[in-house]
Amino acid sequence: MKSFVCTLQSGRVVFGAGSVAELPRELELLGARHALVLSTPGHAGLAGRVASLLGDRAAGTFSRAAMHVPVAIAHEARAASTQAAADCLIAIGGGSTTGLAKAIALDSGAPIIAIPTTYAGSEMTPIFGLTEAGEKRTGRDPRVLPRTVIYDPELTLTLPIALSVTSGLNAMAHAAEGLYARDANPITALMAEEGLRALANALPAIHRAPRDIEARSQALHGAWLCGMVLGNAGMALHHKLCHLLGGSFNLPHSETHAVVLPHAIAYNAPSIPDALAQMARALGRPDPAAAFYDLARTHGAPYSLRALGLAESDIDRAAQLAVANPYWNPRPIAHDGIRALLRSAWEGKRPA
Ligand code: NAD
Repeated sequence: MKSFVCTLQSGRVVFGAGSVAELPRELELLGARHALVLSTPGHAGLAGRVASLLGDRAAGTFSRAAMHVPVAIAHEARAASTQAAADCLIAIGGGSTTGLAKAIALDSGAPIIAIPTTYAGSEMTPIFGLTEAGEKRTGRDPRVLPRTVIYDPELTLTLPIALSVTSGLNAMAHAAEGLYARDANPITALMAEEGLRALANALPAIHRAPRDIEARSQALHGAWLCGMVLGNAGMALHHKLCHLLGGSFNLPHSETHAVVLPHAIAYNAPSIPDALAQMARALGRPDPAAAFYDLARTHGAPYSLRALGLAESDIDRAAQLAVANPYWNPRPIAHDGIRALLRSAWEGKRPA
């Protein structure tokens, strides 16, 4: 066995259908008295209901969270938090809302209670991101790791089928890359394998019956494990490509993960035999790259960058950006190879 160092970081997890009702108790346990509830505009009603659960412990709601945390919105949210004298931030929603809570916590140090309604996994990581003038800056800071996470599968019943599948593949990408990350260890590998298995079973079931609470619970359980992997092991080529396609070409987050994952795994395949074997075991298929592709394609997810709006003429620039400032990767990053990968993903080809 290889040598390793393992320091697991995680907040407290409360899991179960209906568990959002435990929010007042969780706030009490943190010793907080004035919580600001954050959401996207689409979840303003839900944020209001959550605030009403808290009575006079709610310091108000701020419902302007947006994808990739624009700096201007982060400034407004920080001002709202200061004005409300908030001593806790409650993020109810997907990665965009959790990201906004992180931007405030980075400034004020207030603890976050995250109540995820997608499978993005941000609630399990100390990673923050802020976007200004089309550039996304990311970093790690222990202050932004949510102190408590309430996973209530009932809140995911409304997640549209297409977003459920792409968000689930976003989570699976955390686990897949975690299996070959430079700082992977046997504990993150266990979580990655189980997270992949749970989502590989849950996504087809959700596609058949989106209000199946058992499938929704299994998916959220998988998302928790995959998020833990992202928070506790590094990222590589796949995440780099998705970050640059989102940041520089404005492609949508979870859809981009769904399209790129099979191609990133196929590129890395010659260098990751052990990780491939673990993925194959979890997915129940001998070829993980093809299995990810089929999971997306047969369940209505986009499977080409062309369909996401990337211009053919942008393939070269994307390849240059990927090579210019690469993340660590198990297989060396070579311009021609990355260009071929992006071309294949653009065309939506099934990886061989
Ligand atoms: P999102 O939070 O932007 O949500 C997408 C849309 O779905 C929003 O309009 C939202 O209101 C809606 N929605 C969310 N849950 C719903 C539900 N249950 N029912 C109906 N509608 C629902 O999307 P996301 O994919 O969860 O998050 C993407 C963002 O998170 C990106 O900015 C990404 O960079 C970030 N992210 C960060 C990390 C990290 O560790 N820092 C990890 C993963 C993702």
